[in-house]
Amino acid sequence: MKDKESRTIYCPLCHRGRILDAASQTNPAHLRLFGPRQAAKAEWFAKCPKCGSQIGMIFQKERNTEQQQTGV
Ligand SMILES: [Zn+2]
Repeated sequence: MKDKESRTIYCPLCHRGRILDAASQTNPAHLRLFGPRQAAKAEWFAKCPKCGSQIGMIFQKERNTEQQQTGV
């Protein structure tokens, strides 16, 4: 048995690179991932070990349920 208590968040672009690990109780809906083109929206950054893309992240607060739709 290994890492049963965590889940892995993969690169949203290539879906192969491991960006980070989250605890099993973490709600992944709070995590938003952005590609390089949307980096301006992100607060945290990681680099994909597979494709080398810069992945932006936001950890949304639970009470922040009023989502601001910025459009696509
Ligand atoms: Zn990648």
